[in-house]
Amino acid sequence: MSRTFNFSAGPAILPEEVLREAQAAIWDFDGAGIGILEHSHRGGPFEKVVQQTEASCRKLAGIPDDYAVLFLSGGASTQFFMLPANLLPDGATADYLVTGAWSEKAVAEAKRYGRVHEAATTAATNHDRIPRANEIRWSERPVYAHFTSNNTIFGTQWTSEPTPPAGVWLACDASSDIFSRPIDVTRYGVLYAGAQKNIGPAGVTLVIVRRDLVERPVRDLPTMLRYGTHAKEGSLYNTPPSFGIYLMGRVFEWTLRQGGLAGIEKKNREKAQVLYDALAATSFYSAHAGEGSRSLMNVTFRTPSAELDAKFVKAAEAAGFAGLKGHRSVGGMRASIYNAFPKAGCVALASFMQDFAAKHG
Ligand code: PMP
Repeated sequence: MSRTFNFSAGPAILPEEVLREAQAAIWDFDGAGIGILEHSHRGGPFEKVVQQTEASCRKLAGIPDDYAVLFLSGGASTQFFMLPANLLPDGATADYLVTGAWSEKAVAEAKRYGRVHEAATTAATNHDRIPRANEIRWSERPVYAHFTSNNTIFGTQWTSEPTPPAGVWLACDASSDIFSRPIDVTRYGVLYAGAQKNIGPAGVTLVIVRRDLVERPVRDLPTMLRYGTHAKEGSLYNTPPSFGIYLMGRVFEWTLRQGGLAGIEKKNREKAQVLYDALAATSFYSAHAGEGSRSLMNVTFRTPSAELDAKFVKAAEAAGFAGLKGHRSVGGMRASIYNAFPKAGCVALASFMQDFAAKHG
């Protein structure tokens, strides 16, 4: 059976090579007559998987030794509270850049532990852009500055990190663009992402955290909620999401084979360009995100009416393009084209868009 062009925002498309490797590994991993889903997390074969996944991750993103690489569960939504619970002292302030629904959720959780200063927000225009540097008002002495590198729902993306005041570390929810381009990890104190868009299946969350921060939690917390617990035990304090860790490792290796992060960025730029060019080619479509803020991962757009949007999604589905309906808070369409999405799918969608506009414009 051939595979559908899957534009789902997440869980999302995975590399075919990885899926085929996983198919075989589910049956038998490492010639043991035991599948990857069935191996104990305390056994040698799985311990090797964790070590290899971490090593590939470090190689791919150039992560130095003074950072811990953790494989946790609970999704990025758990990091919304785990980060401030571990690192934002009572009464202290963290700055948050609010660029969408996920940033808003992160703010709400941080407020449980300390003060939140919204250093910028784009809510007034339904998060159709990234704030300009001169719009950001940092607080006096924030503990950290949190941003959402790619706004999955709105289709906007930071082209580079915001610059916080000197001495303030960045915290980032990179769920929907992690490892889609080169990254300088040393600018971050904490970087986290649910795997299910660019780096693996749902159920495992990647957390990269500076070791000195891990070693000084600001309050007493349940064991499972402490970064230190997982850092000390190499993500094996309890039964980890073992299959997710395995698959993430395979995706990291695949990404390295694509030329690493520089190679994947080049491909991502080409793919997104095909769709943004298709939007620019006719006045029939409009993009939700403003120029200069447009995401390479989620392309959000609409036709002249909600009726035509619904027609577009239905016709696209019939033509073999899945997952294009936009999020209800934006409407229209959203084409999610993460690392594993093939350029051929973008080219095919662009051609479908052209035909649809000619028929209904
Ligand atoms: N942050 C962003 C940017 C997201 O896109 C999502 C999920 N779509 C989340 C956080 C929430 O992630 P999870 O479902 O893994 O908790």
